[in-house]
Amino acid sequence: MSETAPSRTAPLRARAEIDLDALRANVRTLRALAPGAALMAVVKSDAYGHGAVRCARAAVEAGAAWLGTATPEEALALRAAGLPGRIMCWLWAPGGPWREAIEADLDVSVSGLWALREVTDAARAAGARARVQLKADTGLGRNGCQPEDWAELVTEALAAEAEGLVTVTGIWSHLACADEPGHPSIAAQLGLFREMVTHAEGRGVRPEVRHIANSPATLTLPESHFDLVRAGIALYGISPSPELGSSADLGLRPVMRLSASLALVKHVPAGHGVSYGHHYVTPGATTLGLVPVGYADGIPRHASGTGPVLVGGKWRTVAGRVAMDQFVVDLGGDEPAVGDEVVLFGAGDDNEPTAEDWAKAAGTIAYEIVTRIGTRVPRVYVNTGEQA
Ligand SMILES: *Cc1c(COP(=O)(O)O)cnc(C)c1O
Repeated sequence: MSETAPSRTAPLRARAEIDLDALRANVRTLRALAPGAALMAVVKSDAYGHGAVRCARAAVEAGAAWLGTATPEEALALRAAGLPGRIMCWLWAPGGPWREAIEADLDVSVSGLWALREVTDAARAAGARARVQLKADTGLGRNGCQPEDWAELVTEALAAEAEGLVTVTGIWSHLACADEPGHPSIAAQLGLFREMVTHAEGRGVRPEVRHIANSPATLTLPESHFDLVRAGIALYGISPSPELGSSADLGLRPVMRLSASLALVKHVPAGHGVSYGHHYVTPGATTLGLVPVGYADGIPRHASGTGPVLVGGKWRTVAGRVAMDQFVVDLGGDEPAVGDEVVLFGAGDDNEPTAEDWAKAAGTIAYEIVTRIGTRVPRVYVNTGEQA
């Protein structure tokens, strides 16, 4: 990823502009929605494609007290980049970098005995206490400790704490259907979470933070906020689900704007096949525009024939297949100049499509649209708040 950002006007094949003011505004909006809780900025997977270090710094500046990642490697990279404060990571596999995590002062999640044993061994070797958060599976059916196994995990965690090897800093869980308000699993998970917390506290665990809310829960479920909310997609200004409304409805500002430079404009006759497989054939004499980004850049091939772009003030649709490096749009006889900007998605304020529009076109969720944008597309940071 390019840290040496080209200027906003430099010609580029493609660019993903990342608006750090928008990100900071989203942090403030989310904090105002959960005034009794601290905010964890979830910056896993390179901040959903937006650039982890820059986004983490901006989120911390705007008041995020915690950073969260999936893998320990992601968390260690943030620490190595100089990010202070609390950093939590939760996706561990056996043999993971526990000792490095302890030495970097990370909070690590354990979902079962194998992980608790690996982290206590690492703490013994390091001669330092590990900060451990116990993860409960309250119904997601993914990571986390099953209710039947909870008492045993709590017992071993308390023993490790008594030995001076760990401090249990948190108890936490993750919701399955927070983006479907009223789904019966939500109340069931919150009820079970309270029971599992009560059990652990009754046994003597003193967690600093209890947390279960992701973005949709932060936005719609105050009773899920507890001590900390973990926001990912909302931080990037994207609605977790069309069911909750658009970004604008939720008071969020999309952070990423993806654009490319039109690489070719040419006249073709009626009946001309376009791109691999000729799934599009020009209905009449027309002009075609070549957009020099493809699935290698993260443009979904599933958006073949459906993905929207703004070029020359008009919405156009991907004509035929998205290829590895490029796709074509039918310009309907218009002749924008080569080099003109093609906007794939942005905030939507200037009539451009949004990541939510691309998600609909590709039959996926907007999370995937931004996260998959590849490393071949330079991130250009704007509204950084730094002196020019
Ligand atoms: C990714 C993730 C989040 C953030 O989810 P959003 O829906 O993007 O807010 C929160 N918690 C966990 C455990 C996650 O993996």
